[in-house]
Parts: sequence; structure tokens; C-alpha cells
Amino acid sequence: MALIVQKFGGSSVADAESIKRVAKRIVETRKAGNEVVVAVSAMGDTTDNLLDLAHEVTLLPAPRELDMLLTAGERISMALLAMAIKSMGFDARSFTGSQAGMITDAQHGSARIVDVTPGRVRGALDEGAIAIVAGFQGFNRGTGDITTLGRGGSDTTAVALAAALEADTCEIYTDVDGIFTADPRIVPRARPIRRISSEEMLELAAGGAKVLHIRAVEYARRHGVTLHVRSSFNNKEGTIVYNPAAPGQDENGDPVEEPVIAGVATDLGEAKITVVGVRDEPGRAAEIFTTVARTGANIDMIVQNVSAAATGLTDISFTLPKASAGAVIAALTADQSRLGYLTLQHDDQIGKLALVGAGMRTNSGVSAQLFRALADAGINIEMISTSEIRISVVTRADSVQAAAIAVHTAFGLDADTEAIVYAGTGR
Ligand code: ASP
Ligand code: MG
Repeated sequence: MALIVQKFGGSSVADAESIKRVAKRIVETRKAGNEVVVAVSAMGDTTDNLLDLAHEVTLLPAPRELDMLLTAGERISMALLAMAIKSMGFDARSFTGSQAGMITDAQHGSARIVDVTPGRVRGALDEGAIAIVAGFQGFNRGTGDITTLGRGGSDTTAVALAAALEADTCEIYTDVDGIFTADPRIVPRARPIRRISSEEMLELAAGGAKVLHIRAVEYARRHGVTLHVRSSFNNKEGTIVYNPAAPGQDENGDPVEEPVIAGVATDLGEAKITVVGVRDEPGRAAEIFTTVARTGANIDMIVQNVSAAATGLTDISFTLPKASAGAVIAALTADQSRLGYLTLQHDDQIGKLALVGAGMRTNSGVSAQLFRALADAGINIEMISTSEIRISVVTRADSVQAAAIAVHTAFGLDADTEAIVYAGTGR
């Protein structure tokens, strides 16, 4: 008997009909002789609607109460799903995050899982029931309070359950057919990817691919969980995200030829801040980024220009999520006299493109080919950064789509036909 964890995103359980459809799918898995644990997101746009409601009541909702509010969304879907399954003649039991043993730190709104003690889930399985667990939520032992894992956190719930229960498979059901070589809404000739390594998936997610929550991929990588991403609306194969046993091997230790390019990700969610006129001497970057770090912002690309010989001054630019820019500008402005720079520039009209592939390690000329493709498409590059298996560039926001299409073609990734795009957000 196999143990299968299945996660269903909000668009897969958007209304009563969808809940019944998902219940059928779960029951089929159970009927096939498997033990089934389900992690479920809130119905449709419930989380967004609850957030809007909170902000109608107050400008600054208390974090503890916000988590209390938002976790109600998953309580609704988990109970309805359990009812639907029971009405089909199969035993099912729903559990909140704390009942399922999702122990987190105390960081409301972005809590991290520190332990999983799924005794009650295991008990339900032992009694032959299907266990339905509320995604996205946990419990802190110190404060005794309910926490949430951050937007899109139900993927992480599923992976954590799969790791703790030593599941055979962790299936992530969503509203797209799997992982594509690019977002089909941006690059119509994007192709589905059958298998991708977790490190490539991490880079794509960091580059803006939204199908999987980045923390879920990290958790799966750390705990050796293989993910199977597929649509809850059809029976297509979907994508396996595997953890190589060693470089150049698959999860079983068999050799695989890594693709030079796995895919292209784009991101319009970042802004660029430039600190102009920084004295070119030891310690300046350390001080600037200490101030930035205090805001909790996640910095992505950093570029420092050569210093102008005449003045001994340099500029430092970095990108960060648009939503963090205000707080970072305020913090840098407050520290301006101590940091001793001239001015700040803020640019929220940037787009980021990331080209990802494990085969980059052993293939030369990839960056030349990328820059050539962008040049031929008449696209100016504003920033460049690289990792072992990724090259990212910043362009104007309004040229990032043209850039992605050109690069996708240049690296031979185009499908013969255009991908079918279903409605939805990928969650
Ligand atoms: N319902 C939560 C959200 O919308 C968690 C999730 O969907 O994974 O962010
Ligand atoms: Mg959701």
C-alpha cells in the first residue's frame, strides 16, 4: 500500500461543483488501494477577500488576528471536502494545521515549519480514513497561537506532510498542466516539461515562475521529496520535480543528460533602487545593506559600478520586490547622513528575465547566445547577474515579454503549437 499526499490549490476547489470533482479524484486514489492525505487551499479567492475585509476594518491589521482570520479560509474548504468524500461512502477526517502537528516559529504571516508531528493524521490513516489537512497554517508552541506560512503556503504544507509521513508520492494539483519552459501566458509556444531537477525548479521559481511555492521546493529538496505537479482539470502527465542523487543523476542514481536550458522565467514584480554617489571605500556596502536588511526585504540582484576616478564615488543598484521598496527607501533616507551617499533613485518599471539550465555548467557560450538574442530583438540590458545554472537580466518592463519570446526561440525551446491556457492564477 502506497501513501500519497495530494495538494489541491484554491482554483481546484473554487465552488461546490469543484469540491465534488476533487473529492472524486481523491476517492479514486483511495479505491486504488492507497493511503491518502490531502492538503487543501482556501476556495478560490477566499484568502484575498478576507485580506480585503481586514483592510476595510483597519489600515494595519494585527498580525496575530490576521492569521486567525486567514486560516478560516482553509477550514472551510477542508470541512467541505471531507463532507463530500464521506457522502461518497468513504471515511474522511479534516484537521486544522495545529491538529495535524504543523509546528512553526512565531512569525505571523510568514511562519517557518520547525517540526511536524502528524500523529492524528497517521491515526486517521490507520483507521482507514482519508485525512484532509488545512494548508498554509500552523501553530507556535511558545505563544500557543495560530500562524500562516505566507501566501501560497499550502504547497509547503503538502511537502512537509509528505516528508514527515514518508509518503511515496507528493502530488501538487493546480490549474495548469505542469511546469512549462516559460509561462504560456507570456510565451505562447512554451512547452510542458516532463522532468526537471529541484535546483532548476528553484531557480525558475526565484526567477518568477509561480506554479510552485519556492519554499515548498526548498523543503522538498532538503527532505528528498519528489514532487509531481499536474492539473486537477485533466489527466495529463504533468511534471516530475526530482532531487538528483548526485550531479548528472536522477533521483534513483541513474545518469541523466541535463538540458542546457530548462526554461525561461519572467518577473514583473520587482523594482530597482540605486544608491547614487557612495564613497568607494571599505565598509560602505556593508552599512547600506545592513540598513536594507533591517527592513526584512529580500534583495535579489546587486550591481556596483566602477568608481569615477575623479570623485572616488560609485553607484550601487539592487532589485527587490516592489512591495518592499517603500520601506527600504524610508530606511536608507533615515540613515542618509551616516551612510553618506548623494541621492536615491527608484525605478518600478523594470522586468526580469532568467534563463535556467543545469547543463550551463558544462556548456560554454550560453551567455553570448542570450545577449545576441536580446540584441537581435532590439532589447537593452540594464543589469546582469548569474549563478552556476542561471543567467538573469533586467530590461524595461514593457520589453520583457518580447525578450522572453526571443530567447525561448533562440534556445530552440518553442513548441510546434501554442499551449492551451486555462483561466486561473496557477495556484
Ligand atoms: N490560501 C492561501 C493563499 O491564497 C494559501 C495557498 O493558496 O496556498 O495564499
Ligand atoms: Mg490561494
